[in-house]
Amino acid sequence: MTTYPDTVSTMELIKELVSIPSPSGNTDKIIEFVEGKLSGFELKMQRNRKGGLLITLPGQDTAQHRMLTAHVDTLGAMVKSITPGGRLKLSMIGGFRWNSVEGEYCEIQTHSGKVYTGTILMHQTSVHVYKNAGDAPRNEDNIEVRIDEKVSNAEDVRNLGIEVGDFVSFDPRVEMTDSGFIKSRHLDDKASVAILIKLIQHICKEKLTLPYTTHFLISNNEEIGYGGNSNITPETVEYLAVDMGALGDGQSSDEYTVSICAKDSSGPYHYGLRKHLIELAKANDVEYKVDIYPYYGSDASAAIRSGHDIVHGLIGPGIESSHAFERTHKSSLFHTEKLLKAYVQSSLTENR
Ligand SMILES: [Zn+2]
Repeated sequence: MTTYPDTVSTMELIKELVSIPSPSGNTDKIIEFVEGKLSGFELKMQRNRKGGLLITLPGQDTAQHRMLTAHVDTLGAMVKSITPGGRLKLSMIGGFRWNSVEGEYCEIQTHSGKVYTGTILMHQTSVHVYKNAGDAPRNEDNIEVRIDEKVSNAEDVRNLGIEVGDFVSFDPRVEMTDSGFIKSRHLDDKASVAILIKLIQHICKEKLTLPYTTHFLISNNEEIGYGGNSNITPETVEYLAVDMGALGDGQSSDEYTVSICAKDSSGPYHYGLRKHLIELAKANDVEYKVDIYPYYGSDASAAIRSGHDIVHGLIGPGIESSHAFERTHKSSLFHTEKLLKAYVQSSLTENR
């Protein structure tokens, strides 16, 4: 018998995942890593054209399918221009605030694959030089990258091989604390990717046959809005996105429970599936919170928007300070893992 959930090893896997840069648009390396984690098992695994990974486990019932998704792509940036002073201006990938990356170490990956390091700073950073250092707006005009190379003009930068269009990724600064927290960038949604990998490994090791053919889509374009809206088989009845719960004023989600989403900016999630998830949580001693995320869309809402006639849902670990300095607790991961295991073994909502 393998231990499940083994949340400590899930956290180790999250640490590995967040340490591989994968801004939306540049995810081949992380997808390779995920393939490696699942390669020892007899699994039907294929990449889609967008670069995501689709894993299929045949079930007892092959006429009705279920699909789960989590995304490996993260926020990041792209080199927008090179300044005459030899710094880089950035264009955002995904939705964040510039102040949340100010001061952060970063990596610039060139066309040929060479990697340089740097720091994301305000142009007007030095308080000994700039009177308005604290007040200048944190925006595309003022934020720039200081490259860790001897460069003093645009030509020097170009001689390194750095060009407009190069990907820039943020240092995750991952740490685990004795009190059970994991803090890092990109827990959205690599925490959930780790959870799905662990679940698939567990199903394979225990040779469990799921009630329905179940697809796992590791999507790679969620942060830009269209990650999990393709490769949904016509047989797919239910589609569950596993993505973070959002915390803040007025939110019921926290870092210790699994968050079940009732509604986000795309509207309500399927009521029947939400009730099913709550019943499963109650029956399996899973601590959960039902919540509404005011500024949020998921791969499940993207799938609905693209025209799929599916029952859609969204659950995930509660992530503090999302799209910034994120953190969650092992307890939230544990309850998400428990609920997912019960879910993949349960009846489809419409068959109950
Ligand atoms: Zn996400």
